[in-house]
Amino acid sequence: MDYTVNEQGYYGNFGGAYIPEMLYPNIEELRESYMNIIHEPSFQEQFHQLLRDYVGRPTPLCFAPRLSERYSARIYLKREDLCHTGAHKINNTIGQILLAKRLGKQKIIAETGAGQHGVATATVCALMGMECIVYMGQLDMERQRPNVERMRILGTKVVPATSGNMTLKDATNEAMRHWINHPADTHYIIGSVVGPHPYPDMVARFQSVISEEIKAQLTEKEGNPFPDYVLACVGGGSNATGAFYHYLDHEHVHLIGVEAAGKGIDSGASAATTALGKPGVLHGSKTLLMQTGDGQVVEPYSISAGLDYPGIGPMHAHLFETGRVQFISATDDEAMQAGIELSRTEGIIPAIETAHAMAVLKKMEFDTDDVVVINLSGRGDKDLETYIRWGKY
Ligand SMILES: *Cc1c(COP(=O)(O)O)cnc(C)c1O
Repeated sequence: MDYTVNEQGYYGNFGGAYIPEMLYPNIEELRESYMNIIHEPSFQEQFHQLLRDYVGRPTPLCFAPRLSERYSARIYLKREDLCHTGAHKINNTIGQILLAKRLGKQKIIAETGAGQHGVATATVCALMGMECIVYMGQLDMERQRPNVERMRILGTKVVPATSGNMTLKDATNEAMRHWINHPADTHYIIGSVVGPHPYPDMVARFQSVISEEIKAQLTEKEGNPFPDYVLACVGGGSNATGAFYHYLDHEHVHLIGVEAAGKGIDSGASAATTALGKPGVLHGSKTLLMQTGDGQVVEPYSISAGLDYPGIGPMHAHLFETGRVQFISATDDEAMQAGIELSRTEGIIPAIETAHAMAVLKKMEFDTDDVVVINLSGRGDKDLETYIRWGKY
């Protein structure tokens, strides 16, 4: 079974580029050039130099002694929370801005929901001295004020999207519109393994550094690059893709993606796409998404802003359909409890997205010698308000 993208931009039945005709030239330029550019030795050298010196890679793979004892397994945490800006998202924005430079672009646009991708984009634009505009739903700007101010401090212009629900979908529409009008000088940085081909594959390649490092680190610590399990939370799916990537063809490694069940899968307030979704087109690719009988996208809900997305990337839709990745979900309460548990057992306050992956430990049965890697996608500083409001600690 092939789990990576084919020549036409598909993962099995999912993927492709479903875009307005006016975007063809932009997407075509990317599609034709991205593989050549990212395989250039000078690109690889600069990418890895920045990941090392600026982002702080390799991030540690840290044995979790107390958690291991509690769940009777050998549990390791891949510490993406220690990346500059506090999460894995910067791996991708570094890669894309280097690509944009080589394509001769002078300006960057992005869209953001919770603001995390916006901050990661604003950061690399400051680093590279590039002009940056981030589109954000007006409602999200009110809900995520600290990230709006972070982007502004970094010199990025944050433009409110005032149509529709004034959230992520509307920001995406505005960004697309901007790109159609400025195709020559602008690159659009998408923040997860979503969007039209070649974005999902491009983002997957930049994030794959996570599993590349896990293999080397496990070899050193366990004498074997292959764990029994890899666990990661799934919003669009980029941190999970990064953690799974180099294990996809090794079927003896169990891969587990964790989605947000919000207030419960059947509550009408969740983001559990594989449980509830059907095939459709979202953000330019064919994938699984939560939709009504007549194809309207259902407004997702999760306590965690980064998992609050109505779809998943096309690669994950394929991994779900083929059974290569097992998808499980965790509710708001399960995630919050798991976040507190990690804080108390290992001294790490995780992002609430990541806490969903931690919550799965309670739902699994391990053998005592099983090696389990959990991708710790981000740190909890940004979520302090949510922890405080939840209050049960
Ligand atoms: C954005 C984000 C996620 C969800 O995005 P993916 O593309 O699914 O990785 C998960 N964790 C953190 C910390 C995030 O910031």
